[in-house]
Amino acid sequence: LKRILSGVQPSGKLHIGNYFGAIRQHIALQNEGECFYFIADYHSMTTIQNAKTRLEHVRDVALDYLALGLDPSKALLFRQSDVPEVCELAWILGTVSNMSLMEKAHSYKDKIAKGIEASIGLFTYPVLMAADILIYRSNLVPVGQDQVQHIEITRDLAEKFHRAYGKEVFPLPEHRLDVGAKVPGVDGQKMSKSYGNTIEIFAEGNPLKKTIMGIVTDSTPVEAPKNPENDTIFTLFSLFAYETEIAELANRYRAGGLGYGDSKKMLLEKVNGYFGPFREKRKELASRPDYVEDVLRTSARKARAEAIATMEQVREASGFLKQP
Ligand code: ATP
Ligand code: MG
Repeated sequence: LKRILSGVQPSGKLHIGNYFGAIRQHIALQNEGECFYFIADYHSMTTIQNAKTRLEHVRDVALDYLALGLDPSKALLFRQSDVPEVCELAWILGTVSNMSLMEKAHSYKDKIAKGIEASIGLFTYPVLMAADILIYRSNLVPVGQDQVQHIEITRDLAEKFHRAYGKEVFPLPEHRLDVGAKVPGVDGQKMSKSYGNTIEIFAEGNPLKKTIMGIVTDSTPVEAPKNPENDTIFTLFSLFAYETEIAELANRYRAGGLGYGDSKKMLLEKVNGYFGPFREKRKELASRPDYVEDVLRTSARKARAEAIATMEQVREASGFLKQP
């Protein structure tokens, strides 16, 4: 049975990029392997430095996953920090990590370019991520496009460790992409919690409408023909629609006479139609905090047992004695 692993940072409200790039496949894979999904609260420290905010985001991510269909009887959902052994492995992997390799990581470069301060933590993020993946001896990592490079780094670090210590502890993980691997935000750039350009999964009513109406477009007049190819509204609409609806909207773009305001309304209807049914479930779960906490803790215990078993092999291979 394949071991499947992925994480989401509690760095803000989850958005439709997280959903179509990652969460949708996480939920679909529940029946296809042993799933380990974690809320990456250590990682969120690279952008969120407020304890209360972090705790709220952690809770929100857990509620989102459960409302969207994560079944705790099939998949684990736990806090990264409930398995602190990942930090030990991150240290060990850091000692076989090449500085120049890390400097090439574009997720880091993108965040710096956006003005996010470069801490050592942000710089070594891929090393902690490698530890997250390797400590559970994962085979498959379902993620969005922006994480593919980090999984290549993970394989590289696993191989470096194996070469250094002459023992193959880790399977080499593969990534898995969904069709929504690169969802644009309302400004046309990659949708990211930390870029403030998201459409939240659980937004509704006026705030949702305002966000969608605010999607940046070019200034082609209503009557003029438009190119659907590089239009954000069209790209987002395509995530929710059937092939025939997508083709029809593309034709209306090219024919002219359809304004961006019109296609925004069509998108709004799709978002409401798709996520609407999950909203009730989320509200119901929010009224049962003990249940949610129980899921996180029960999952963490199982995940931690796996992590400890891996660390015993890692420690033995690299010249450390069994812990007293
Ligand atoms: P942050 O800005 O804090 O990095 P984020 O929005 O990039 O947040 P992450 O928690 O870093 O979200 O990523 C969680 C998962 O969602 C990852 O698998 C990532 O590849 C995927 N993902 C994030 N943004 C997008 C996007 N715009 N399109 C598709 N997948 C995405
Ligand atoms: Mg990210």
